[in-house]
Amino acid sequence: MPTDVINKPDELFEIFVNAQTFKTILHSFDDLCRVLRIDRKLIGYGKRSLYKILTSKLTSWKSKSLWAKIDKRGLQKEYENGYACADTKVCIVGAGPVGLRLAIECALLGARCVVVEKRDRFSRHNVLHLWPYVITDLKNLGAKVFYGKFATGQIEHISIRQLQCILLKIALLLGVEIYQNVTFIDTIEPTLTQPNWRAHFEPVSHPVVSTYDFNVLIGADGRRNSLHGFQHKEFRGKLAIGITCNYVNHHTREEQNFEEISGVAKIYNPQFFNELQQQTSIDLENIVYYKNETHYFVMTAKKQSLLDKGVILQDYPDAARLLARDNVKFSQLCNFACEAAQFATKSTSQFKFEFAENHYGTADVQMFDFTSLFHAVNASRIVERNGKQILMGLVGDSLLESFWPTGSGAGLGFFGLFDTAWAILKFAKHEHPLKVLVERESVYMLLSQSTPENTKNNYQLYSINPATRYQSLNSKMCTIEEIRHLYDSDSIP
Ligand code: FAD
Repeated sequence: MPTDVINKPDELFEIFVNAQTFKTILHSFDDLCRVLRIDRKLIGYGKRSLYKILTSKLTSWKSKSLWAKIDKRGLQKEYENGYACADTKVCIVGAGPVGLRLAIECALLGARCVVVEKRDRFSRHNVLHLWPYVITDLKNLGAKVFYGKFATGQIEHISIRQLQCILLKIALLLGVEIYQNVTFIDTIEPTLTQPNWRAHFEPVSHPVVSTYDFNVLIGADGRRNSLHGFQHKEFRGKLAIGITCNYVNHHTREEQNFEEISGVAKIYNPQFFNELQQQTSIDLENIVYYKNETHYFVMTAKKQSLLDKGVILQDYPDAARLLARDNVKFSQLCNFACEAAQFATKSTSQFKFEFAENHYGTADVQMFDFTSLFHAVNASRIVERNGKQILMGLVGDSLLESFWPTGSGAGLGFFGLFDTAWAILKFAKHEHPLKVLVERESVYMLLSQSTPENTKNNYQLYSINPATRYQSLNSKMCTIEEIRHLYDSDSIP
């Protein structure tokens, strides 16, 4: 039945909980608010105002079990019951997992939070490995209400699109405003006639974001970061060619018996890789296999093997030229990926892997160059123009790109966004800009070396306060002199 003819809030809530695309999640949430007669302009933004109304009006057992979890998280002292950042207005660029998870923190802090996303689809079947604390964090936010299979048994992974769906729903319930098909272009500085920070977006005449005034701007827009004023450094390793692929999971008995490979590298298990090479002429450095909604593989392949198998046509020293579209034979790439999958799952010769479709409607197999990974030189800046300050920051892949086969992307991404939320809190409390920046940059120095083994292990105590997560925290590791250039003010002569 179309959602616009359903008028029972609990039924609409159920539809919202089960919605599986970006569009249907947004539509079902709008329908829910309409039926509950919630007018966003009347109730106001921030201070968890929408969430409070929803919890009073939705009382099914499922909604109540969700409120219990979110309420518990919301009691953390840093949030001050949703008033800690009541005067703060945040704009987050990008509705990837990290941008959405940060939006949830901003809403819990009581800030008004707008997320802009240039796409209108969540289409990445690729799978993220989740560090144990990320699993605890998501369970504590009620992830299982939206996705019952989340982290059951030994499963420590989730598809990127499913994680986005879960986080989008929690963010909406907490009052975050999310706009699809909106691209951030650049900031607009305050002037005497228009005295607040704004931004240029596409489309230019968007009814909300084109006139949205904010004082915190966060780039969560993936590796191609679009916030100006941040420098990036390249880490250039030896040539690393990654291949990801997704196959349809038909859940047959044979598929159920496939064993996941949570990460195996040639140096630790040479026998596996030698046998693979003998049987198929495929030479890999590592491989990961996760069984999810799809059969997902990520592997690092040796260049010579890709040349020998006719996947790469011509050898070039430059990685970008080597992997350019016109130098890759797609059908051979598909064969290569299928052979590797066949070997890794020990599937019978009768079993045929069938590619899942990506959002272009073609086989979901991609080859990536990991030879150089980028990280931002700094995590934050504060700019002041005409008496108005703005805190700018980067999170997720925009801040620190990870090598996917190691599975650290979400783990580090979540740590970085919590650290950013802490900086937003300090900024909202009117701490001196240099103090905010010293602390943010000091904490950032710890991020790239963080692992599940060298960080604190009482995950239930984790909060946005870095001291609850990092073991050896020195929040004054940077000196004021080192970060002074990050405070760019027109009031300093
Ligand atoms: P992303 O998930 O990249 O999200 C950034 C979002 O910002 C996107 O939705 C993008 O559309 C949006 N955006 C960009 N520019 C703008 C703009 N100007 N205005 C508005 N919106 C904008 N990691 C793994 O561990 N395993 C994998 O197999 C894997 N596969 C991947 C495949 C692809 C194609 C990509 C892009 C990434 C993949 N990753 C993978 C990386 C993983 O997705 C990220 O580490 C993780 O999603 C966290 O990233 P994020 O939220 O920082 O950024």
